[in-house]
Amino acid sequence: MKHVLIIGGGTAGIMTAAQLLKGKNFKVSLLEPAEYHYYQPAWTLVGANAYNFDKTRKSMASIMPKGVNWIKEFAENFHPENNTVETKSGQLISYDYLVVAPGIKIDTSMVEGLTEAIDKGVVCSNYTDPEFTWNVIKNFKGGTALFTQPTTPIKCGGAPQKIMYLADDYFYKKGIKKDTNIIFATPGGVIFGVKPIANTLMDVINRKEINVRYHHALVKVDGDKKIAWYKITKDPKVGGCVILEDKSTDNCIDETINYNPKKVKITKENGLYGIHFDMLHLAPPQTAPEFIKNSVLSNDAGWLAVDIHTLQHEKYKNIFGLGDAAALPTAKTGAAIRKQVPIVVENLTRLSNEQSISTKTYNGYSSCPLVTGYGKMVLAEFDYDSNFTPDPKLKQMLVFNSDKEHWRLWLLKKFMLPYLYWNKMLKGENV
Ligand SMILES: Cc1cc2nc3c(=O)[nH]c(=O)nc-3n(C[C@H](O)[C@H](O)[C@H](O)COP(=O)(O)OP(=O)(O)OC[C@H]3O[C@@H](n4cnc5c(N)ncnc54)[C@H](O)[C@@H]3O)c2cc1C
Repeated sequence: MKHVLIIGGGTAGIMTAAQLLKGKNFKVSLLEPAEYHYYQPAWTLVGANAYNFDKTRKSMASIMPKGVNWIKEFAENFHPENNTVETKSGQLISYDYLVVAPGIKIDTSMVEGLTEAIDKGVVCSNYTDPEFTWNVIKNFKGGTALFTQPTTPIKCGGAPQKIMYLADDYFYKKGIKKDTNIIFATPGGVIFGVKPIANTLMDVINRKEINVRYHHALVKVDGDKKIAWYKITKDPKVGGCVILEDKSTDNCIDETINYNPKKVKITKENGLYGIHFDMLHLAPPQTAPEFIKNSVLSNDAGWLAVDIHTLQHEKYKNIFGLGDAAALPTAKTGAAIRKQVPIVVENLTRLSNEQSISTKTYNGYSSCPLVTGYGKMVLAEFDYDSNFTPDPKLKQMLVFNSDKEHWRLWLLKKFMLPYLYWNKMLKGENV
């Protein structure tokens, strides 16, 4: 029996192992040092007190598919010419096929001051400690609530917005919305890359009177003074914007940079633009894990160099890569992995039986459940070309226009998806 070695026991690694074992064609080993596995998509709800954090965590042992040889170690070096992986303790593990899925690395050092500031005071992140996010939101008494997106790729690119919409809803219910300015600062020039979804989100932003700051690249966080420092990446003079002229307030009239402007305290220093906040939620910068970046398997940007349709490594044909660590030009989500796993499994089976891979390919499918308030959600589903591709099965739930806010989609997010994840997807079922 051929031996498949999987690196990483996250969403991608566990689902791949479970599906491979169903076929009974392979011996499967999995390298994973962690004690716990997390259902990260529910962290958005945890940050808004709509889900219990403990329910997002299960012991690795309890979800490891039966029959997997679990090696509780870090992978450290690749020797693809010899078909071996070296672990942190120096053990060499050989394989016939290798599947690489170690996820993404959170790197707070890429923004000055962030390592010191994050998860303290009023600076929070659903990516690192969603329970602390809820603490910050719960204790907010009005002022400027700043939500921000980093310049690097991140897992679930929509998550920094979702918590903002939930926080807005909470502030409204608490009666402090009238004393609050909500700002979304993003390095991008649009709210979302899929047109019908962007149209709905702009309606939400108008309804909630959110100030969106485009072309804002976060470079520094001063947690003590409560200032987030940005480089504005679009020339503010183009379009008659006076964004940098007034030092105390922000009078930008160019809505491609400052949409729905709000009067908040701004400081300008050394070409940087400082937004004063009373709470800050951010997605920290993220990169490929170090051992991938430093390996022969990575591309110039550090991600796993795989073919975007077959998920086979560009150079080493018995290696596949998927999940957040792979160089795939689509949103890094568990939903994307759901469609990637069957392609990897099919290709491994074909390679082992027929020495050639399948003609079935991955089209870049990913999805982002954009929660827009308690009890409301829009479901963005799309492919490599940013086409909106709603799942026909949604009709069975009586959802016929998932690009619009719907209460049934909230039920999908809060109840159905976690159930399907733990009970079907991690067990190797194709849902
Ligand atoms: C706040 C938030 C909200 C999100 N919302 C959604 C959502 O609504 N919908 C959605 O589909 N997705 C969402 N996601 C994204 C989703 O959780 C990830 O895309 C998915 O978990 C990635 O799976 P993965 O297997 O690639 O990595 P992970 O699930 O992160 O797992 C990687 C595993 O590799 C292990 N590992 C790391 N280094 C090594 C090493 N050297 N050797 C061995 N093992 C190693 C780690 O311990 C870990 O267990 C969200 C994520 C966050 C943080």
